[in-house]
Order: sequence, then structure tokens, then C-alpha cells
Amino acid sequence: MRIFKGIAASEGLAKGKALVHHHASLAAEKQHILADGVPGELAKFRSALQTAKQTLQEHDASNISRESKDILETHLLMLEDPEYIQQIEAYITTNLVCAQWAIDSVTSSMVALLEQTDDDLLRERAVDFKDVSLYLIDAIKGKGQRRMEHLSEDVILVADILMPSELFAMDKTHILGICLDGGGRASHVAILVRAFNIPTVLAAGGASKTVNDGDEIIVDGTYGEAFIRPDHTVSQMLDERYALWQQHELELHQMAGLSTTTTDGHEILLKTNIQTSNEVEAAKACGASGIGLFRSEFLYMESLETPSEERQFQVYKQIIEAMAPKPVTIRTIDIGGDKVVSGLGIDEKNPILGWRAVRFCLSRKDIFTVQLRALLRASVYGKLQIMFPMISGVEELNAVLHLLEHVKGECRSEHIPFDPDIKVGTMIEVPSAALCADILAKKVDFFSIGTNDLIQYTIAVDRGNEKIAYLYQPFHPGVLRSIRMIIEMAHQNNIPVSLCGEMASDPFCSVLLAGMGLDELSMGSQSLLQVRKILRSVSYEEAKKLAEHVLSMDSYLTITTYIREWMHDRFDHFTTI
Ligand code: PEP
Ligand code: MG
Repeated sequence: MRIFKGIAASEGLAKGKALVHHHASLAAEKQHILADGVPGELAKFRSALQTAKQTLQEHDASNISRESKDILETHLLMLEDPEYIQQIEAYITTNLVCAQWAIDSVTSSMVALLEQTDDDLLRERAVDFKDVSLYLIDAIKGKGQRRMEHLSEDVILVADILMPSELFAMDKTHILGICLDGGGRASHVAILVRAFNIPTVLAAGGASKTVNDGDEIIVDGTYGEAFIRPDHTVSQMLDERYALWQQHELELHQMAGLSTTTTDGHEILLKTNIQTSNEVEAAKACGASGIGLFRSEFLYMESLETPSEERQFQVYKQIIEAMAPKPVTIRTIDIGGDKVVSGLGIDEKNPILGWRAVRFCLSRKDIFTVQLRALLRASVYGKLQIMFPMISGVEELNAVLHLLEHVKGECRSEHIPFDPDIKVGTMIEVPSAALCADILAKKVDFFSIGTNDLIQYTIAVDRGNEKIAYLYQPFHPGVLRSIRMIIEMAHQNNIPVSLCGEMASDPFCSVLLAGMGLDELSMGSQSLLQVRKILRSVSYEEAKKLAEHVLSMDSYLTITTYIREWMHDRFDHFTTI
């Protein structure tokens, strides 16, 4: 038996047989070869052409739309383009480099040429060539890769890396649990596994290198442990641990119909974060006061094509109607960073600081206005609030607000009804926005603090990188001061402020955040009842005192220790750390 200790990312216990998956990095690697290696690399390239065609044909056979079929057909034709093939072969032979490097180099020069033209069609062709080259490189590097859209039996997925888009494409009905070598609790994969209720352990060292397909494995997502080939005693101990945890979950259900009011009568609204419309039922079941964050970008990961205005309208309408009269905050697309959507040309060297969220939307107004129209159309079916992600300053905020007004104008002239009083807010998740919160507060109806990114950018620590996870500290005085300042600025300008990062779901943060004066907390519905239970058993006065004291402390270590002791003195059971 081997035990891997990692990060408890999604609660629950799962037992089953392992399926090991290795993520193929799509970045081409450069390798020089000798002249006698040329035939081997040419053969690799030829075989990659066949594999890529086969992959595309498999896609084509599945049930996808006409537009997606057209794109796939174009890609298939490109894989037969004699000039493209001949140029890559010549590059291998002349420059004595491996096939993947030749594919990457030839494609990059073609793309650079095509991107310079004024012809829209040719520029689109550049994106197609990039995609095709990724299929080819994937075929060379990803030998042994398996496609997981359809699984025939239940498995525990063990992987080195998992991208949000990969998880989205997988057949989750057969994934009982997940164990990953890396990742952080605030990464988007972590957020998704919680949303899909898949017990998960992250940062489990080199589990994917130790585990073999078919090995018995138990994933304990509550305590952050994975047991490989467990013996009988351990298995029994885990069953007992799980029974206790389930008992605790059952008890929490008594909280479902109650308000979140402190013992001295102060109410804090608890809302939920969702990624798909399927999560609305869970939000309603736990008695959420609304949807505080719908990450609409995941709608763009569901299929190969960008969702049409009609498709988006239907999804937004369904969520808004289901929650009415409670409010639904839909965040405009926050793609980029670790949320790469294929076919949109987002493939960057430094994506976290790159072409992300409103930065992408303001340069792809064609895509953005489609979303704004769909949102406005859906706004008449209940109470919609629109929220913009990754705003870094007033120019960006002005630009998106201006565009929204423009789209409203179009709707008016086309007699499309929309809610004239629709509330518009911004996320505060970039340090420059936090520092300018007083300026931004004058332009919007509400703030929502995105601590997942605010922590990442304030401390300069990648939220998904397990090697530096020890630095990712919600209780860092820099983060807490920033949150306090945002709340003060919002309140001085008479707007409400919510917090929708993962901090909102962590029971150890609940009392502190309430005491700091937040009006709302928004979190995955799995955590809402636990947070409600905690907040209902403290007074607002003591929460404020806690916040005041903690904000006078000078290090995250002392703050963490102090809060742990404070909480353990009052509560005896926590499932999340
Ligand atoms: C955040 O950054 O805190 C947030 C809620 O947005 P996301 O996790 O999608 O980046
Ligand atoms: Mg964010």
C-alpha cells in the first residue's frame, strides 16, 4: 500500500480502479537530429498525419453542429494540403530537426504571413493552421494518450495535469474520483471538481507515476489523501471516517431553509457560484439567496464552436427563470488564463497576465456583443445582474460600460425588450482595481471581490501551482488589508459588496469575512450550509472584534494560528481546511 497526501479539493470518498492519464503538453520541443535520423522523423510525421485525420474523423462522426463539421472538414483538407506537407518534410530534411519542431516552425511562419493580410478569410485560415498543427504535435507527443469523452466503466482518474477544458470534455458519469499530481485549491479544475461533486485530491506528489491502470485506489477528498492498493484495515477505517462525514452532512441539511443571521440579528446573504445550469437545483436546495457568480465562460467550453446568441439566451433565461425572484449575477466571459477555449487563438506564453477576460472581450467585440445581447434579452425573465471580470482600471470599465450602452441602444431600436434597471457590477480581483476601488465604485451598482485572483496577483503566486501553494495565503495581511479597503470604498459610495472567491467557502474564513463587513458571500453550494451554520452561531459584534484584532496582526502565520484557535474554541467539527 502507498499513501499520497495532498490537498483536499473536493469532499467525499471514492473507491475504484485507477485509470492513468498523462497530459500531453502541446508546446513543441526542439531536438536536433543526425542525417540518418531523417527517415525516422519523416515516418513520424506521416504517421502523425494519419493519427490526426483519424482523430478528426472520430469527432466528425459524433453528434455536432453544422458549423463544427465545416471547421473539421477544413482541418481535414489542410492535413492533405501537399504544399503544407512538402514544406514540413523539407524543413526536417534541410534543418535536421525533429518532426514536431518542423511542424511548429513551418506553421508559425505561415500563420505570421496570413495574419498580416487584410483579408478576414485568410486570417481565419491562420487559426485553422494553428489548430491543425496542434493536432499533429499532439499525435506525435501524446502517444498512448487516450480519449476520455466516452468511458465504458467506472474509474478513479489519476493524472499529472488536468486542464478545465479536458475535464469538461470527459465522461464524468464514470469518473468516481480524481487524484492529480499538481494543482491548487483555488484553481479552476478544483472549482469544477467541487461543482461536479467528484471527490478529489490535488498535489498528490508523483501519484500518476506510481499508479498503474487497474490498481485499486481510494481517494479521500475530505482529508486530502489517496491510498494505492489499500489493505483491509485501512479500507475499513476509511469507511468509518466516511460514515461520520456523511452524518455531519445530513445534520447540515437542517440549515437549508434558514436565513444566515447572526445571534444579534445581522443578516449576511449567502449565494452560490455555478458553472453550468445543472447546478441551479443544488443552489435552490440549500436555500441560496441567489446566484452570486455564474462563470459563463464554461458555456464556451461545452462544444467546439462559440455558442450562438440564441443558445446563450436559452441558458441564461433558464437559470434566471429557475431562480426568480432571487437575483442571478452572470459574469461575462472570463476566458484565457488556465481557461483556454479552442479555436479563439488564445495560446500565450504568460496567460495569467495575458489576453484574458475583458481584455479579450474588448478586442473581440464581435464575440462580446453577442453575449451582451443574449444577456439583455434574458434580463426580462427575472432578476439579472451583469458583472465584468478582471477590470484593472477605469478606462477598461468605461469601455465595457460604453459597449453595454451601445448594445442596449441596438436592442431599443430593434424593439427587443430588456430590464431597464438591470444592475451592473465589477469584480475586484486585480490589485490596481482594489487600489482604485473608490473610483470604480462611482460607476457601478455593486462589487464582487474575486479573491482567487486577488490573492494570486497581490502575492504574485500562481493559484494553480502546487510548488508555491504555501505562499497562496488568504490570511496574508496584504490580502486582508486589500479586502478591507475595497469594502470601505464600496460602502462609502453606497454600493453592496460581495466576495465570490474560494475564501467565501472556507469555514475558517467565514466569521472574519462577516466581521469585515461584507454584505454577501458567494460559494459552491456544497459549502453553503456549513458557512451558514457557523455564522448563525456567532454575534456580529464578536465577528467585528475578531476582524479588528486580526487586521492589527503582522503575518499570515500568526493570523492563521489565531483564527484556528478562535474557531476551535467555538466549533468542534470542520470538514474543510
Ligand atoms: C476569483 O478570481 O476569485 C473568481 C471568483 O473568479 P475565477 O475563480 O473564475 O477566476
Ligand atoms: Mg477571477
